[in-house]
Amino acid sequence: MHELSIVSSVVDQVVESLEKYPGARVTEVRLKVGALAAVVEDSLQFCYGIATEDTPLEGSRLVVNIVPVTVHCAACGADGAIESLQSFRCPSCGEPASDIRHGRELEIDAIEIEEAEEQVKP
Ligand SMILES: [Zn+2]
Repeated sequence: MHELSIVSSVVDQVVESLEKYPGARVTEVRLKVGALAAVVEDSLQFCYGIATEDTPLEGSRLVVNIVPVTVHCAACGADGAIESLQSFRCPSCGEPASDIRHGRELEIDAIEIEEAEEQVKP
């Protein structure tokens, strides 16, 4: 499943960056996902629950921010968000535009953690 492999690599990256914070738990992971990445948010959420089991991410929240597809138009020089994924046309002049500037993102935007509480020694 496409989403599961995405989520697994996200979990790996988060676990790696947690190495600097021993004992910390993740409370929230924010992802930036381009509209062209062709992922289904519900599937991402479902897979996240599976992929985070028995990791420091277990029980954390996944926030998915969809990045709209924007193109640069060679004809008029405008940059803009396309109206639909079925039509890659410049929103200003209507010419076909294939120079995609945004919309392919698939990256971690932010990770929120809760630092380990100090152990109280008996
Ligand atoms: Zn144009």
